[in-house]
Amino acid sequence: MKQDNSRLKIAIIGGGPAAMFVYKNLIESGLDNPEIHIFESQKQLGVGMPYGLSGANSEHVTNVSANEIPDLVQPMSEWIHTVAKETLTQYDIDPERFNEYRVLPRLLFGEYLFEQFEALLKIGDQKGIKTKLHLDTTIIDIIDKPSIPEVLIETSIKKTIRFDRAIICMGHTWPLKNEGKINGYYDSPYPPAKLARSFNHPVALKGASLTAIDAIRTIARNNGRFVIEDNKVTKFVVDEHAPDFKLMLHSIDGLLPAIRFHLEDSHLSSDSLLTDEEITAHRNENDGFLSLDFIFEKDFKEPLAERDSALYDRIKDMSMEEFVDLVMNIRESIDPFELFKAEYVEAARSIRKQESVHWKELLSILSFAMNYPAKYFSAEDMGRLTKTLKPLISIVIAFVPQSSSEELIALHDAGKLSIIAVDRESTVEPADEGGATYTYKDVNGVERKDHYQTFIDCVGQQPVPFKKFPFRSMLKDGVISEATVRFRSSEAAEKMLEDGNKNVKKSGDEYSLVLPGVKINDNFQVIGKNGEVNERIYLMSVPYIGGYNPDYSGLDFCEEASGRIAENLFKEFKAAF
Ligand SMILES: Cc1cc2nc3c(=O)[nH]c(=O)nc-3n(C[C@H](O)[C@H](O)[C@H](O)COP(=O)(O)OP(=O)(O)OC[C@H]3O[C@@H](n4cnc5c(N)ncnc54)[C@H](O)[C@@H]3O)c2cc1C
Repeated sequence: MKQDNSRLKIAIIGGGPAAMFVYKNLIESGLDNPEIHIFESQKQLGVGMPYGLSGANSEHVTNVSANEIPDLVQPMSEWIHTVAKETLTQYDIDPERFNEYRVLPRLLFGEYLFEQFEALLKIGDQKGIKTKLHLDTTIIDIIDKPSIPEVLIETSIKKTIRFDRAIICMGHTWPLKNEGKINGYYDSPYPPAKLARSFNHPVALKGASLTAIDAIRTIARNNGRFVIEDNKVTKFVVDEHAPDFKLMLHSIDGLLPAIRFHLEDSHLSSDSLLTDEEITAHRNENDGFLSLDFIFEKDFKEPLAERDSALYDRIKDMSMEEFVDLVMNIRESIDPFELFKAEYVEAARSIRKQESVHWKELLSILSFAMNYPAKYFSAEDMGRLTKTLKPLISIVIAFVPQSSSEELIALHDAGKLSIIAVDRESTVEPADEGGATYTYKDVNGVERKDHYQTFIDCVGQQPVPFKKFPFRSMLKDGVISEATVRFRSSEAAEKMLEDGNKNVKKSGDEYSLVLPGVKINDNFQVIGKNGEVNERIYLMSVPYIGGYNPDYSGLDFCEEASGRIAENLFKEFKAAF
């Protein structure tokens, strides 16, 4: 039941894009006059981490285009006409020739999100929804009181406020380990302003995907310039004062990410996907498990048959592993930059003709579709997903924007960007003299140790370990528990235990595998140590639920998850009014 007889009081912790979609869905949900409080550490709503100065400079772009943004109050193509001329000039955008199929400068996108949040607040107000903003306010603890029932939210100024429900949207986090202690060692490229300087030496980047590309865009501009002809980056010219500047990417097997192409469905959905009911029916027949092979067959292969019958015929009898092997072997057999250039041409053709690259689009759809029911995979299937399918998916769903691809190609052609293939066991040690030492086995299996004066960890957002959950009372009181999946076979679990895997746990006769992050149910409510669903607290911050949500798919995920939360709250409370 809700607290007293007053309005349903909801706290949203965080005021970034996820919080905005939560707010939007709450005010559209039909809930009767809730009172909503939004707590945001920063001074501005909507921008979150990637779309404000903590995550972007003017050179950074989104990896989604305007037509791929989930619906907000005003479409981007309309909003762009309201932006001040000086701002648009700064980003070289002519509103009359605005192309909604192109990606956007992230800081400009942040302004859009901020204004959309403001517009939503106005709509909330018109609907009589009481909304209280707490900007510049960090939440330091959340205390659950099931017996009352209520949730206490403690702010950084030690103020405690009571709520009926709390929705945690605290988003990205980039913990500092060595940065600040070791010269030339960066735990992440964020905020990017710190990289806007001259580097007259080779700079090592761990990772080769979008996070690395953010670093590349900043560093390249501060050590040279890109030549643009006919709206296309054609050349990189290094600064005279930085002749020894060079960027050294390190990635597993030396793979580069795939490039944005035209999506047939701009919101990565498909009518042919398994429905929630079909997944439930399948689980009922399979001891509660969702089979990875089943979802691969139904949400990838079968739709492929309709869209690309030639490829379907080639792979129809392949297992998931065989399909991944086929694609990875092709990728690994070609020089990464040659493949990158070929994919750039393929993507340009796809965009020009507005024709998808079907297998890539379907793999992205599969990844998004798996996100939600992944918690029902067996431990064995979760292992297969992590080891085999996810590495391919993460390459494909990077969607490297065209302008970034052109910059990478120009840098490579100028001899200023290389990629080094490292093995999975490679390590990076901070060096006392500054920078870091990369230890890895090269393609011939020979161990190498390379020291770099500057090292930037660009592996992207990592899941936060359960024990590092920031709201200590939730940990201490057992309000949250570790995400786990059950083993299908006890032999497999015992074998992993014998091999020293500390993430395998036994309870009674059942074995389970501990995943990164917190256990949640289908409605994003946390599950306590007692195994019970907590009715009051929802968690949709990707770094804390990574185990159950293997695809951090950005704005689409924000929209999908917040829709489910609002729907659940509406179902729960409509009876009360
Ligand atoms: C560099 C980068 C670029 C990205 N680009 C794209 C893209 O182009 N397209 C896409 O779809 N996705 C992209 N993503 C994915 C991204 O996850 C989402 O787009 C989106 O930012 C997620 O929003 P969020 O609100 O969950 O997290 P965040 O953006 O991190 O926002 C969380 C907010 O919560 C606040 N907060 C945190 N802790 C507290 C606290 N204790 N108290 C009060 N406030 C708190 C923070 O200040 C922040 O404003 C990108 C991610 C990164 C890291």
